Amino acid sequence: MPLFQNAAFHTTVARLRDLPSDSRCEIAFAGRSNSGKSSAINTLANHSRLAFVSKTPGRTQHLNYFRLADGKYFVDLPGYGFARAPEEVRARWEGLLAPYLQQRAPLCGLVLIMDSRHPLTELDRKMLGWFAPTGKPIHVLLSKADKLTRQEQIVTFRDVRRELVELCGNCSLQLFSSLKKSGVAEAESVLGAWLGLEAKAELRASGSAGEGGAEPRRGAATGRDVPTADGVAGDREKETPGKGGGRGQDMPYGNKAPAQGGEAGDGQTIR
Ligand code: GDP
Repeated sequence: MPLFQNAAFHTTVARLRDLPSDSRCEIAFAGRSNSGKSSAINTLANHSRLAFVSKTPGRTQHLNYFRLADGKYFVDLPGYGFARAPEEVRARWEGLLAPYLQQRAPLCGLVLIMDSRHPLTELDRKMLGWFAPTGKPIHVLLSKADKLTRQEQIVTFRDVRRELVELCGNCSLQLFSSLKKSGVAEAESVLGAWLGLEAKAELRASGSAGEGGAEPRRGAATGRDVPTADGVAGDREKETPGKGGGRGQDMPYGNKAPAQGGEAGDGQTIR
C-alpha cells in the first residue's frame, strides 16, 4: 500500500495562529504554479483529486493541510509565479509564508517541485536561497519527467544537481512523473524517513514496533550519477548551514521577507 495512501484534507490555514497545534512533523510542498505540485501530492497520496482542494476559491493563497497520520501532515503552499499577483495578496502571502517557513518548529522539510523542462527558475532560486539557511532538508522533485527523453533526463538531473550543490547544503533531488507514476518509491522513501513513517513500518515488520521512536532523518542527498528508473538523486552530503533563514532576502512571492523574530506575521508565535 502506498505510504501516504491515507492522506485526507485536514484544514486550510490563513493565519499563523490557526496552524494545527497537534502537528509533530509536517512537510511543505512549494513550487511555481503549474509546476505539477498538486499532481505530485495527488500521486503520492494515490488520490486523483486530493490536492485540487488547494485550488478551490478561498484556498489558493493559504496553507492547505493534508493529514497523513497522527500529528503528521503534508502542507500545500500557494504556487508562486503568478504574473500579476496584486500587491496586497503578495503581502499576505509573505506575512503568512515567511514566518511559517522560517519558524514553524514541526516543519521537518520542504519539497520543491520544479518542471524538469524549466528547472531552477529565478523564483525557485529565491525559495532555495531563502529556505536553505534554516538547515532543514529540501527534496527537489523534477516533475513531468515523462516530457523529457531519457538522455534529457540524465542531463537535466546532472545539471540541476551540480547547481544545487552550490545553492543548498541539505538538498536531495529526483526525477518524478505524475503521469507515469515514476519516482514515487524514491519520494516515499525520502519523505517517509523525514516523517518517521518508513522507520515505523520497518519496526513493525521486524516485530519490535514502538511509538514515537523514529526521528525524522535529515535530507541526505543520496544516489547515483545516472537516475534510475525510479529517478534517484545525488550522492553528496555537505555541511549543514547554520539556522536562521534568509532574513531580508527576496521571497519568491514578491518583496522582502519580514525580519525574523520570536513573533511574526499576525503577531502569533510560531510553534
Ligand atoms: P500546480 O499548479 O503546480 O499544482 O500544477 P498541476 O498539478 O495542476 O499541473 C499543471 C499541469 O501540468 C496540468 O495540466 C497537469 O495535468 C500537468 N502535469 C502535472 N504533472 C504532470 C506529469 O507528471 N506529466 C505531464 N505530462 N503533465 C503533468
